[in-house]
Amino acid sequence: MSTNQSIGYMNAPVPKDINLKEEIDKLRKEKNAIILAHYYQTGDIQDIADFVGDSLALAQWAAKTKADIIVLCGVHFMGETAKILCPDKKVLVPDLNAGCSLADSCPAPAFEEFVKQHPGATVISYVNTTAAVKAVTDVVVTSTNARQIVESFPEDTRIIFGPDRNLGNYINSITGRNMLLWDGACHVHEQFSLEKILELKKQYPDAEIITHPECKQPIIQVSDFVGSTAALLKHTIKSEKKQFIVATESGVIHEMRKQSPLKEFIPAPPNDSTCACNECNFMRLNTMEKLYNCLKFELPEIFVDEEVQKKAIKPIRRMLEISEKLGL
Ligand code: SF4
Repeated sequence: MSTNQSIGYMNAPVPKDINLKEEIDKLRKEKNAIILAHYYQTGDIQDIADFVGDSLALAQWAAKTKADIIVLCGVHFMGETAKILCPDKKVLVPDLNAGCSLADSCPAPAFEEFVKQHPGATVISYVNTTAAVKAVTDVVVTSTNARQIVESFPEDTRIIFGPDRNLGNYINSITGRNMLLWDGACHVHEQFSLEKILELKKQYPDAEIITHPECKQPIIQVSDFVGSTAALLKHTIKSEKKQFIVATESGVIHEMRKQSPLKEFIPAPPNDSTCACNECNFMRLNTMEKLYNCLKFELPEIFVDEEVQKKAIKPIRRMLEISEKLGL
């Protein structure tokens, strides 16, 4: 089936009189499908998912599921990661247009050329990359395990880190390493306004500023806590503070509020908008209607070239093995 046909099914009209939650649940059971959702999905999708997590957790779930169909409610590279890990399963994403500006900032041919210019260097890639970039990578990382995986290599190892320059700079600063960085970034995390965050801090002087390491350094410098989406969530549960200014995609606030209903979560605002929070437009392409169509028509499906899959699975498995050893 062509991509255009897939997109047609994706947007097929959904009868107005059906109960979407019940129908999605019925289809999931009938088809032995599992719904995995990223924290940046809308609240209704997070609530109906079998599992909600960050990129590392979603990969770990995909690797161990016995389901015949994996519906990955996230963006394209997450679907690809699941397909690489489970080449014999059907992997679906509700909206095939759900891309990622960070993955797009690292085209595989240019990255391969960069790698060739530094023979002998170990290549560490963030999971937010295409399958083709993973295929030229030694070990994949997520923001949850990046520090530990980098530190698992001897100090004198020459490392290429891609594609996120902000995460790479942050890891360099906390580990004392001097990794060569690919110059990519995520449009959501680059957008946060330091000025507006500091204004919010004046308004909420007791609030902790908690920040994802994909943000720029000036934001990281004024933060009380820096960590992956999962680490930020854990921190809000453990912290004695009652208010948090959250500098990452605002979807995670849904789970933060569920876990800590008595605490207050204030989304950090972006630079060039009147909107109070910062959303990933790619993540928000997925809707309950598209999730329903996706399960009903078993489309759109993610495919990965066989040769690329065979190469790309090695660095992902390596990440999962190291993470397991480290108890992550
Ligand atoms: S928030 Fe940024 S890194 Fe995450 S999917 Fe959206 S564009 Fe990609």
